[in-house]
Amino acid sequence: MIEKIKDKMRTLPAMDILLSQDWVEDWIIRLGRDTVKSILTELLSGIRRQILEDEEYDTSIDNINAQAQRIFAGEAKRKLRPVVNATGVVIHTNLGRSCLAAEAVEAVCDVAASYSTLEYELDTGTRGSRNSLVEGLLCRVTGAEAALVVNNNAAAVVLCLSALANGAEVIVSRGELVEIGGSFRIPDIMKFSGAKLTEVGTTNRTHLKDYAEAVTNETKMILKVHPSNFRIEGFTASVPREELAALANQNGIVFMEDAGSGLLIEADNLGLEGEDSIRKIISEGADIVTFSGDKMLGGPQIGVVAGKRGIINKLKSSQIMRAFRVDKMTLAAFEATLRIYLRGEVEKIPAISMLKQENEALGKRANRFASLLRKKFKGTAKFSVIPVDDAVGGGAYPARPIKGWGVSVTEHDWGSAGNFQSLLRLCDTPVVAGAKDDCLIFHVRTLLNGDEEKIIEALNSLLAD
Ligand SMILES: *Cc1c(COP(=O)(O)O)cnc(C)c1O
Repeated sequence: MIEKIKDKMRTLPAMDILLSQDWVEDWIIRLGRDTVKSILTELLSGIRRQILEDEEYDTSIDNINAQAQRIFAGEAKRKLRPVVNATGVVIHTNLGRSCLAAEAVEAVCDVAASYSTLEYELDTGTRGSRNSLVEGLLCRVTGAEAALVVNNNAAAVVLCLSALANGAEVIVSRGELVEIGGSFRIPDIMKFSGAKLTEVGTTNRTHLKDYAEAVTNETKMILKVHPSNFRIEGFTASVPREELAALANQNGIVFMEDAGSGLLIEADNLGLEGEDSIRKIISEGADIVTFSGDKMLGGPQIGVVAGKRGIINKLKSSQIMRAFRVDKMTLAAFEATLRIYLRGEVEKIPAISMLKQENEALGKRANRFASLLRKKFKGTAKFSVIPVDDAVGGGAYPARPIKGWGVSVTEHDWGSAGNFQSLLRLCDTPVVAGAKDDCLIFHVRTLLNGDEEKIIEALNSLLAD
């Protein structure tokens, strides 16, 4: 038996033979020799393990070539590539949150392959500050005295806590001790930043006197946190911003708000009740407010601290800033996005325009898409226009679906909704679709221009297989 296995091992083609094939040469050009070699080495050792379990294993070069071909093709695809978002979740964290406006993309391309004014004053030919590229624009769009940018909102919160409240107490309501996306938990971030958390109130109700009684000589900050991904209903109470601002002011401590999403227009323009814009948060007395660039703001991943000049200056001189600084492509995209806001052309920002779409327009788009699908795939499946629940997503506007329209697919041969979804994910341009009651659904709200054609291509490729 051992002899048989040994014989079988000997029938495996040598690495040199595999590498010298013409078709492998093509992959060496595409992937590089080292990659091809290490894939083949790994494949051969996998096959050796299989031979130990099954001495009849097919060791022919054809079988090995076929397997190698599949691995090479998978390896050649870029890992980070575009997908069609047909889930109806506008700020989809796993799909990269916000899509940039065309102008922002152009700004990125302009500086990406070239030298730029990242830290350079053209007037004087001296060193400039990258923060000043966007600070003035941020002040105009939020009404803040000063502002500063870092890598993301999590970094903005860490920066504020460690620079302003290291070793001191920070008061937070128990109703706001949230976890966002698994890795951002307010109590842990506090600890990491060297601040001491003072919890006040209860999960559902916190009153001004709870805060007032918790202030000690060690207190440096009152922190209000947007609950982002959950909502408490029923017997609830929280303290109005103005009252917290007054309390902080009386005690000479900082009132900070972590707004999360960064709405730069008034929420009623989007039909989102109860969400406050950054301008409103500042005008109601927050000393500083932190927010993300790639949630409802609709720009690149960036974190902003906006507010009082004295506090922002203190943050700017913090050592930790150097570790959180933003790169030129992000700044280019952010500057361009802010300029769109200042011109009032918010429909040019994909996240905002997706949220602003009228229900009727979505219905029409779903109808147009359904008839296109019916024409292309007659007899293959049934396509119906149905009302769906879309979502803002990204931990913004939680637990409140927004009404949208979609196209459901039934009477087809692609199996369960889960199976159908996974087939679509593996297409050349992956399509991420929604599902409800074991029925696959393309939500139209989150489709970009041209995405309908990409979905049709994907379905076509499934038919060809
Ligand atoms: C999303 C969010 C964060 C984290 O922001 P990132 O941009 O993911 O770093 C922090 N706080 C709140 C309230 C949030 O909603």
